[in-house]
Amino acid sequence: MAQLVHDFETGSMDQKDLLGGKGANLAEMTRLGIPVPPGFTITTDACRAYLESGTVPPGLFEEVGEHLERLEARMGRTLGDGADPLLVSVRSGAKFSMPGMMETVLNIGLNDTSVEGLSAQTDNPRFAWDSYRRLLQMYGKTVLDVDGEAFEDALDEAKAAKGVTADVDLDADDLRALVARFKAVIEEATGAPFPQDPREQLRGAVVAVFDSWNSPRAILYRRREQIPTDLGTAVNVQAMAFGNRGSDSGSGVAFTRDPATGETGVYGDYLQDAQGEDVVSGIRNTLHLADLERIDKASYDQLVDIMARLEAHYRDMCDIEFTIERGHLWMLQTRVGKRTAEAAFRIAVDLVDEGAITEEEALMRVTGDQLAQLMFPHFDPEGARTLLAKGMSASPGAAVGAAVFDSDTAVRLAEEGTPVILVRRETNPDDLHGMVAAAGILTSRGGKTSHAAVVARGMGRTCVCGAETLEVDTKAGQFTTHDGTVVRQGDTISIDGTTGEVFAGEVAVYASPVVRYFEGTMSVEDGGPLVAAVDRLMSAADKHRRMQVRANADNAEDAARARRFGAEGIGLCRTEHMFLGERRELVEHLILAESDADRQRVFDELLPLQRADFVELFEAMDGLPVTVRLLDPPLHEFLPDFTELSVKVAVAEATGQPHDTESLLLLAVRRLHEENPMLGLRGVRLGIAIPGLFEMQSRAILEAAAIVTERGGHAHPEIMVPLVGSVEELRNIRIEIDEAAHEVRTEHSVHLDHHIGTMIELPRAALTAGEIAGAADFFSFGTNDLTQTTWGFSRDDVESSFFSRYMEAGILGSSPFENIDRAGVGRLVRIGTDEGRKTKPDLKVGVCGEHGGDPESVHFFEERKLDYVSCSPFRVPVARLEAGRAVV
Ligand code: ADP
Ligand code: MG
Ligand code: MG
Repeated sequence: MAQLVHDFETGSMDQKDLLGGKGANLAEMTRLGIPVPPGFTITTDACRAYLESGTVPPGLFEEVGEHLERLEARMGRTLGDGADPLLVSVRSGAKFSMPGMMETVLNIGLNDTSVEGLSAQTDNPRFAWDSYRRLLQMYGKTVLDVDGEAFEDALDEAKAAKGVTADVDLDADDLRALVARFKAVIEEATGAPFPQDPREQLRGAVVAVFDSWNSPRAILYRRREQIPTDLGTAVNVQAMAFGNRGSDSGSGVAFTRDPATGETGVYGDYLQDAQGEDVVSGIRNTLHLADLERIDKASYDQLVDIMARLEAHYRDMCDIEFTIERGHLWMLQTRVGKRTAEAAFRIAVDLVDEGAITEEEALMRVTGDQLAQLMFPHFDPEGARTLLAKGMSASPGAAVGAAVFDSDTAVRLAEEGTPVILVRRETNPDDLHGMVAAAGILTSRGGKTSHAAVVARGMGRTCVCGAETLEVDTKAGQFTTHDGTVVRQGDTISIDGTTGEVFAGEVAVYASPVVRYFEGTMSVEDGGPLVAAVDRLMSAADKHRRMQVRANADNAEDAARARRFGAEGIGLCRTEHMFLGERRELVEHLILAESDADRQRVFDELLPLQRADFVELFEAMDGLPVTVRLLDPPLHEFLPDFTELSVKVAVAEATGQPHDTESLLLLAVRRLHEENPMLGLRGVRLGIAIPGLFEMQSRAILEAAAIVTERGGHAHPEIMVPLVGSVEELRNIRIEIDEAAHEVRTEHSVHLDHHIGTMIELPRAALTAGEIAGAADFFSFGTNDLTQTTWGFSRDDVESSFFSRYMEAGILGSSPFENIDRAGVGRLVRIGTDEGRKTKPDLKVGVCGEHGGDPESVHFFEERKLDYVSCSPFRVPVARLEAGRAVV
């Protein structure tokens, strides 16, 4: 095997695969001449070999021994020496940061002898015994698998016996006694004494870090963050820097900018006389980083200077860990820091202004998901609030409503106009109607791939899941919080799907300033630094992107909003609503019609109504293309419910009232019933089965276009035929549409700019796209139906039943209805596009499924060189941003 151990001096930040993020960055800082306690990194190769074979790779510990000897020589001390010991930390560190998920052991090298040596050397027995008890605690827990609570309890007892609350109030003698107690705990739990041999300690800690790659919480974290399971972790062995040597020592964490807002200026916490995680564990109140300036100005100045260097070097906001040992500053970790969506936008733009990065790089520093987060309504952060619990942020947004504990009640109250939050221990497919009716969903069990989370995200419903401190009693219709507060059915609660917080009562909700900016009700000047940053990056994305972005909108109002959000056309206008409401009766007549003449009478009535709808739409989208899809859903969707109608007829019969129409309708409902309507009489099949229907729709579209043109406007209708599976269907129906176009052109003497195309939403259409393109001016991939028909999934049925199970089992990484399935559906998109363009090089190709607004999918459509994506109006900015990011 290749070299398995590398000194910090020899690595660099580009070696994250081999050295892990922590190791690579420690090496980088060392190279930059920043003070880092020396050490070395055991590679991820070694970890992977161990995980695969179950044994440490041959020669590993010999190699570790050589590097250790070099470290000892350099430090002038030997590991665990009785008189003057070298101590080291053994730290995990994978390629992707998994904060707190894996193990780290500090103070390796202490034993019953060296603790005395350390005590004498430093003339500080308290510090030596504190370090030893920490080693016993960490080593016991992580290496020897002793229940951590046993140590916590013993520590609490020691503090209680002395009548103090903080661990710093325990003196050397107390800690010496505690060490004896801890050693007994270990021996009781494992049947063997704590290993006194420093090298054995080191080997044990290395193996424990390897093993921690597969700890349950690490596995869960990787699944949630979609980190590959087979990377393994590196292990860093590093000389200790002691922050627990008294009040002139301490440990801290810091960010080079505020990770919450992106504000410039250092930001962090510091704790005196503390080691390792003390500062983030909440055991004592920390100080603001700024206070360090008062305590130790020299170290503070040096730290601020190093932070500036790190930011300049990484050209991004960094987070760091540091320790001060008796006035000497040591850097222990750095990486590009995690940040909120707001901070991401602001920092990216600030770095451009500071000349650190280019505008293209800034675009890569933000994501469409972050933009989407900024567009959700938020709770007023200044508003009064009482936190009841904190769960997982499963689906963003802010929702306020009455707590209800079953789906039927949720539906009933929602119908009465009361907004509700559905509270369940966990949801299952039977809860679907309640979830649809609710403003938000709260569960006490399950993670981000639970049923509640998956379905809520799919519906865009606010959801907090896994709020484990809540005791949900659905039978009693109430939940109890950790402190015994009881919330009963009907009590108002507020849930924040972005933070996972649950509040009592109503918290004020405020619309996102970013949305108000997009809507044009807030100017860039008034919007503050966040809106200014969004504005800058949206312009950058628009400048770079190749694909156009359109919106799916069915009426003039939605279209106008989409246009304000930057839509460059309508990619999908559904027409089913033009057959609903008062017009439903006309559809019934159409279905009952017995002759062409009967049918024509219905068409003559529908035509002017629909024409008026289209006029409004074309006016809203003046100058931009509008793709109108001809009628798609099966006709029985427009008919009354079978059972209701049967009852009506039966009652009429019994009471002797006239019911001829009802009886006829009943027959029609029975005749039109389909076992599997998704695959039945719909789309182009309807157009062919009911002659004149598509002609009427096309006339309405084209006459509206002519009217708008006559008024001096610019209408660009694109007539789209749904569910085509063969070129013959399209040819057949085109005859009707062309006829309508011809007539409209003769009746109105204006130039009509129109196109006729088809949706590609059946595998057969994609596979025969070369032929279909011969009869089509454009293609639009209906990726929702194409996903359904490719997988054989009925979306409504599968998402609410077994998808969460599939995701937990790892069969699906994400829903193919959210992220395009590249391998299957994506392949059909590729075939359809390539073969269509082979026949017709200037064929316009777009996509109008929900994938058009999904960041990952947008990148795929860019790769396939589609002309545009179309998505819901609210997702238009996200699609614009991602289409720009996809090309830089
Ligand atoms: P994590 O990846 O969970 O942050 P770390 O390996 O960074 O774990 O270590 C946990 C804590 O121990 C951190 O606060 C770190 O700064 C501290 N620490 C690690 N190694 C040393 C060392 N050699 N000297 C002093 N403190 C250390
Ligand atoms: Mg750390
Ligand atoms: Mg469809």
